[in-house]
Amino acid sequence: MPKTGDELSILGFGCMRLASKADGSIDEERATKQLRFAIDQGVNYVDTAWPYHGGQSEPFVGRALSGGYREKVRLATKLPSWLIEKREDMDKYLNAQLEKLKTDHIDYYLVHALVGDLWDTVENHGVKEFLNKAKAEGRIKNAGFSFHGASEDFKRIVDAHDWDFCQIQYNFLDGRNQAGTKGLKYAAKKGLGVVIMEPLRGGNLTRNVPPAVQKIWDGAAIKRTPAEWALRWVWNHPEVTVVLSGMNDEMHIRENLRVAGQTHPNSLTKTELQMVHSVEKKYRELMKVGCTGCQYCMPCPNGVNIPLCFEEYNNLYLNGNAEVEKFMYAARLGGAVGTGKPEFASLCVKCGECVDKCPQHIEIPVVLESVVEELEGSDLEQRVAMAKQAFKQT
Ligand code: SF4
Ligand code: SF4
Repeated sequence: MPKTGDELSILGFGCMRLASKADGSIDEERATKQLRFAIDQGVNYVDTAWPYHGGQSEPFVGRALSGGYREKVRLATKLPSWLIEKREDMDKYLNAQLEKLKTDHIDYYLVHALVGDLWDTVENHGVKEFLNKAKAEGRIKNAGFSFHGASEDFKRIVDAHDWDFCQIQYNFLDGRNQAGTKGLKYAAKKGLGVVIMEPLRGGNLTRNVPPAVQKIWDGAAIKRTPAEWALRWVWNHPEVTVVLSGMNDEMHIRENLRVAGQTHPNSLTKTELQMVHSVEKKYRELMKVGCTGCQYCMPCPNGVNIPLCFEEYNNLYLNGNAEVEKFMYAARLGGAVGTGKPEFASLCVKCGECVDKCPQHIEIPVVLESVVEELEGSDLEQRVAMAKQAFKQT
């Protein structure tokens, strides 16, 4: 960590997608073995959060780190920013988290899933004073935030507080999305450690790889899996501090550990970087809508979160799992996380205000109609209620 010199493993264990049983609950025995194996092999950064696994990830991590493992790792968890209504809520959640995690301090504490509006809300409720106080009292050691908003809001939030670190979504398809490469470099230049989430875009870059993409990977002089190329691409950036991987499969854990042990910043050759760029281009061709997430079309006067609607729409085609994507659409655009307000494609009244602003010349209202057709439907309200329940669970 640039500010403290704290030595972290470049691979972190993400606890959002733990090994699970058929009924969806955490497979404690298997997940505990996996987590402890990774720690025994040198992983020393463990990341969880209040809503993961419907509120069960934190208590699981607390139990899995007993027997001497807590002392071997730096523990990261996050303030559920969308649930904060007043200053006292922050202490209430942190204290509950310390209890769930069976610890007296959180090493890396993040304000979770910030977008611009949400930052304004928690800032007004006194989050900076809360973080400073919690740090002075030793309940947290390092203060940071995780981010899912627009590039300009990222810079604004970085500048708004004396942060130790931040966490951003970053992979070879998201170089211009959310914080992006610009954000990564900006945060690092300001001395923040940068933790990377979604290096494999939730597995989308490794599952059901389209044949046209696989053909490009197959053409490489050194044979590597799509996961290895994607991870090496992220680790190639010297600004990256830790890369989180949501690990739940023994083979993947071994592969990630091997790659982490071999990779170095600036180690990909020019030819390899060009190949990854060709894969990125191919994915963009295959995506339903060529939205880069630049946000020039925003804000929509009717509250549609245009880039997020398109991101979920593309995920539907890249991932191919309609049930998962419909749930994610309901959660991310229905107010379960983020701004707390609905931002659905169906709010579009076709005023046309956004169309000329799009540098990609996307017929935004027309594509939004397809988003409504494929991701909304009569059970949308039910999915929103389920998502809200899942994200509020204690
Ligand atoms: S056309 Fe639709 S999405 Fe675009 S600004 Fe108008 S209401 Fe918003
Ligand atoms: S302006 Fe176009 S490319 Fe940019 S976020 Fe909006 S729809 Fe996407």
